[in-house]
Amino acid sequence: TNAGRGRAALVTGGASGIGRATVARLRDEGWQVLLADLNAENGKRAADELGATFVRTDVSDEDDVAAAVAATVEAFGRLDCVVNNAGVGGAFGALTEIEVADWDYTFAVLVRSVFLGIKHGALAMRAAGNGGSIVNTASVAAFSAGAGPQAYSAAKAAVLNLGKVAAAELGPDRIRVNTVCPGLIVTPLIGDAVEAARSVMDEAQPWPDLGRPEDVAEVIAFLAGDASRFVTGEEITVDGGLRAA
Ligand code: NAD
Repeated sequence: TNAGRGRAALVTGGASGIGRATVARLRDEGWQVLLADLNAENGKRAADELGATFVRTDVSDEDDVAAAVAATVEAFGRLDCVVNNAGVGGAFGALTEIEVADWDYTFAVLVRSVFLGIKHGALAMRAAGNGGSIVNTASVAAFSAGAGPQAYSAAKAAVLNLGKVAAAELGPDRIRVNTVCPGLIVTPLIGDAVEAARSVMDEAQPWPDLGRPEDVAEVIAFLAGDASRFVTGEEITVDGGLRAA
């Protein structure tokens, strides 16, 4: 299709997993894509393979995020969509044991990043006056205690609310903000935990397969483009029924 023709998107965490699949999906629709990732080796390779432009970016750093937004406008002359997707598992363990530095790192990469992507993305979109779409990646972990590590779950809940706050603030500028909440998706993030994911799936997920990055990318692409033009402040769960069951 050519739904993205002439449009430009910035995708964070585009070097791997859900982000990489999102870059591929948007490129298929004709979007121009700036792929921002901390991992320069994987980022450059993915960008080369998918026809995107790579900029090494630490999403927890304000200067880096501002620079990635500026690089998108510079490369393509516009910015229509920001996908705030980069993430890490972050601190593991009980709240009584997590060190403050690990807690802060988790929130910097998962929450500060989304705030910065919204802030600088919206400033650029507002300056251009053409509206836009911001899509954030939370998780089913946002909804309950049991679906992820403690700090990660709390951070993803913050991402979910941030999407609503931003949608309320930016609606008058025709900037939409939505959230995708993946369930168990096979990517390097879950890595060695794939067997653990499979046993959670057997117990709690109605659909009998684990999710693929492409399953999430499809929904992100829907939220990125005009097909969802009246959808904002919303979340879509992509989890094979895990949350519902
Ligand atoms: P992934 O590990 O395959 O990809 C994450 C990417 O983010 C990597 O390329 C990594 O280099 C990049 N990254 C990490 N820290 C960064 C930083 N500070 N700055 C810039 N880039 C950074 O993981 P994934 O599974 O594709 O995860 C993508 C998003 O989806 C994350 O926000 C994750 O929390 C969320 N998510 C994943 C699952 C799942 O089951 N895989 C479930 C729910 C939510």
